[in-house]
Amino acid sequence: MKTLLVEKFRSAYGRAPEICAYAPGRIEFIGNHTDYNGGTVLGAALDRGVWVALAGRADALRQWVSDQRPARVTSRAEDGAKRVGVESWVNYPLGVLAALPEFGVAAPAGFDFLAMSNLPSGAGLSSSAAIELSSALAFLEMAGARVARETVVKIARHAENHFVGVPCGILDQGVSGFGQKNQLVWIDCRGPLFATVPLPAASHFWIFNTHTKHALVDGLYAARHRECMTAAQALGVGLLVETSSTTLAAAQAALAPESARRARHVVEEIARVALARTSLEAGDLAAVGQLLTASHRSSQLLFENSTEELDFLVDALVVSPQVFGARLTGGGFGGAVMALTSAAFGEAEAHATAALYREKFGATPEILHAQTGDGATLI
Ligand code: ADP
Ligand code: MG
Repeated sequence: MKTLLVEKFRSAYGRAPEICAYAPGRIEFIGNHTDYNGGTVLGAALDRGVWVALAGRADALRQWVSDQRPARVTSRAEDGAKRVGVESWVNYPLGVLAALPEFGVAAPAGFDFLAMSNLPSGAGLSSSAAIELSSALAFLEMAGARVARETVVKIARHAENHFVGVPCGILDQGVSGFGQKNQLVWIDCRGPLFATVPLPAASHFWIFNTHTKHALVDGLYAARHRECMTAAQALGVGLLVETSSTTLAAAQAALAPESARRARHVVEEIARVALARTSLEAGDLAAVGQLLTASHRSSQLLFENSTEELDFLVDALVVSPQVFGARLTGGGFGGAVMALTSAAFGEAEAHATAALYREKFGATPEILHAQTGDGATLI
């Protein structure tokens, strides 16, 4: 892939890049909207992601090219303002540059930048974290800064929270940063603490990207964030992780019904993450699968961040004996469903699921037989 990246950079800028970096997308395995509530999550880095190539310039001009976008964007070092419309993809790396001084690093001035990707974007597989992490590694290298991996993760999240404006937790950036092939990343988001949990060899991931995305998805994500904070406040805690099912049940009557549903989802989802970890360690994929499906039902009914398309796919998948469990992966309101399956689930079964979907919705979901991969790195 590096050869292709260098070739693309050369054809865009007529010279070789000085720095190259890569960061993967991720599957949210279980832990839906638990991260910003201080809970735990399990995710897996994919073997797909975003590559970034970079070369410095003597002037303050910044040029931005992505193989996913038609036109070159230009900006200047002294103008770090947010971009709009077709140029808005640049806000992810620009946000990383804006975050650097907060972490004691001076942002590089002028450069030529190129992004290349084999990850569907807007599918809930966190192409945003992949472009942030790969950009962060490249810019930090250009600035000559040596920082811990955890700091790179924080810089990337800072970009998404404060510049792009999505109040995401640490799941996406944490898994892209700490992923390892054949491992799940477990994060206690309060620390944050990172650990890996071996993925049983018999696990297979199939992803069905619906290519549907609610037009207001960022606003809906922010609304759920707000609703969780309101529920925490009503329960007298800082974050929902600090409450328990018992406290919640006792306070039920005092909470607005919507707040109670959001809080119940988060509290029970955090418990499911813990059970999923134990079941993974015991190699009990049937139990893990049931937790995944229960997570989806909770998103569907309590957190209300699923869609008719995602529910249809989950319903169609879980009746198959080769499927351990299935759930929406990522923030919801569209995007993708992931299924944890045995090796017996293959192309034929995936296409049969896609055919049912096409019959119902008239569109074909994109199918990925996803493999896990390693985390962000300079290449
Ligand atoms: P997800 O993170 O689930 O893919 P987001 O909406 O959070 O969805 O992030 C997708 C956005 O990230 C894209 O709309 C685009 O602005 C940016 N992005 C991701 N990958 C690339 C890429 N290779 N080139 C340009 N922009 C990208
Ligand atoms: Mg994202």
